Amino acid sequence: MDKKHDSKICIMIIPHTKKVKRITIPSWVPKATITSVLTIAATFFIILNSISSSNSNLKQEYHKKISEINNLEEENKNKEIELSKLKSQTEELRQKTNEVEDKLEEIDKLQRKLEKMAGIKSPSRGGNISREIKPETLDPKDGMAALKETLEDKERELEIFIQDLEERFEYLEHIPDLWPAKGKFTSNFGSRKNPFGRGIGFHQGIDIANSSGTNILAAGKGVVTFSGTKNGYGKVIIIKHGYGYETLYGHNQTLLVDVGDKVDKGQIIGKMGSTGRSTGPHLHFEIHKDGEPIDPLRVLK
Ligand SMILES: [Zn+2]
Repeated sequence: MDKKHDSKICIMIIPHTKKVKRITIPSWVPKATITSVLTIAATFFIILNSISSSNSNLKQEYHKKISEINNLEEENKNKEIELSKLKSQTEELRQKTNEVEDKLEEIDKLQRKLEKMAGIKSPSRGGNISREIKPETLDPKDGMAALKETLEDKERELEIFIQDLEERFEYLEHIPDLWPAKGKFTSNFGSRKNPFGRGIGFHQGIDIANSSGTNILAAGKGVVTFSGTKNGYGKVIIIKHGYGYETLYGHNQTLLVDVGDKVDKGQIIGKMGSTGRSTGPHLHFEIHKDGEPIDPLRVLK
């Protein structure tokens, strides 16, 4: 046997009064104890070190997160600013849309009124502003684009409407519906007793009597196709108005227009007289439609 294994350590405890106590421990115990303590200490150190390093990682992580949070907050602020800008733009768009809608309604009313006045019906060809547009749900740019499109539609519709109106006014200007002279209505259209003899004659027009020299007006816009003397009619003017209408003005004292002259509705074309087969100063006025004499009272307003 090795001596070392036999060596022992003896610890003596000597109290004052009582008997001495002897504790014998093997000599390897203190070494083992120191080794254990060192091992434990080393282990603790490693653990502590690891904890401290992990702690430092956590700290870094923490700072990173804080900085991320700060960035997010910053981003959020910017988003809020953008959102509030968007909201104010949207509000502006909503107001503009409402204003435009009101204006369009006014224009529509005016258009209907004009249609009624001009006696035309031009059904809405463009689009009315869509009530579907809800700017609060729209990107202002989309809203603006929709509004622009609606306005362009309306503009096209109004262009066509104005064209219709112009055509209508042109038509109305040509229709011979203006009383051609002031005076007394002395004879109507149709069968009547012959003023120059016996029997019944057919009167192709109406008679308006007034003093000699009373203005004779063109009943509608047109072109003079005859200005001269005709049997019975005396000094007579014939105007072609288009749309199948022609008018004749008889018994004039004076003719103020020539063949080929363009005349406007209401233009003075002659002076009242009693030329031709006439019993006194008056205008004999005829309206022909598609070559046939018609009752002027059906046309005159
Ligand atoms: Zn007559």
